[in-house]
Formats: sequence, structure tokens, C-alpha cells
Amino acid sequence: MRVLLVEDSESITDYICICLKSEGYVVDSVGSLAGAKAALAITSFDIVILDLGLPDGDGLDMLKEMRAQGNTVPVLVLTARHNLNERVQGLNSGADDYMPKPFAVEELTARLRALLRRPDGSLGVVITAGNVDFNSNAREVRVNGKIIKYQDAKWVF
Ligand code: CA
Repeated sequence: MRVLLVEDSESITDYICICLKSEGYVVDSVGSLAGAKAALAITSFDIVILDLGLPDGDGLDMLKEMRAQGNTVPVLVLTARHNLNERVQGLNSGADDYMPKPFAVEELTARLRALLRRPDGSLGVVITAGNVDFNSNAREVRVNGKIIKYQDAKWVF
């Protein structure tokens, strides 16, 4: 399991990296939104742990952008923002789970395991056979890249 950790605090990054690596996760860590975008562009991750207060912006903005682009990777938001409105805003922005700081690493790893078990998370896949793509997250079938629909008992292009 490959984890992208987006966190600007070195001590928290070290702590999470040590704990997750001991549980068998492969962890890539970055300390900024720019670093996160670059990592997401070149590598596919099973899960993202996202801090919100980052030196070059707000993690929620990147999360909204990712979801708008159709990126469905499970995202666990890790933040010092505690109040209910902020948590709801995080979930509404496309977070799959929310964990307030400070946290116990046992809870973090338990939440990661729960997220990775979800069928609409990391297991959502595109299956390709010849020129046909079936996307189980988007519930779409494409032929030669064009979406087709099932209507009146037949496939419509
Ligand atoms: Ca931070």
C-alpha cells in the first residue's frame, strides 16, 4: 500500500512515517501543495493523508481540485482545525475521513485500514478490454473513449 503524506511539520511527518513504515506501508512525504500535486501527477497512491494548513495554501483547495478532476483516491484529512463547521466543510470538499490533531497513531492506522477496505475507494478501477473501458467508480462504459449508455434495452452511442 502506497501512502502520500502531505504535511509541513517535520516532527509529525517523521512520526507518521516511522509508524506507517513499521506497518508495511510505503510512504512518500511532501511538505507543500506544490509537492503534493507533483507527486500525484506521477505516482498513483492507495491513500492520501492531507494536512490542511500548508505553507503554499489550503489542502481543501487541492482536494476540491482533485475531486473535480475525477481523482477518487481516498483522502484522510489530518488537521488542527477542530470545530464542527470545519470538519463538515472538509467532508463536503471530498475528504473520506477527518482526523483532528493531536492524534494517536493507533487511531490513524485503524482509520487508514478502514478506508482501504471501502469498495468505492482504492478498489474502484477501470477495467479495459480492447477498446472498451468500464469505470466502476464513475459507473461509466466507454467505447473508443466515448461514453455509451444503456437505454430502452440497447446500448446507445
Ligand atoms: Ca500544517
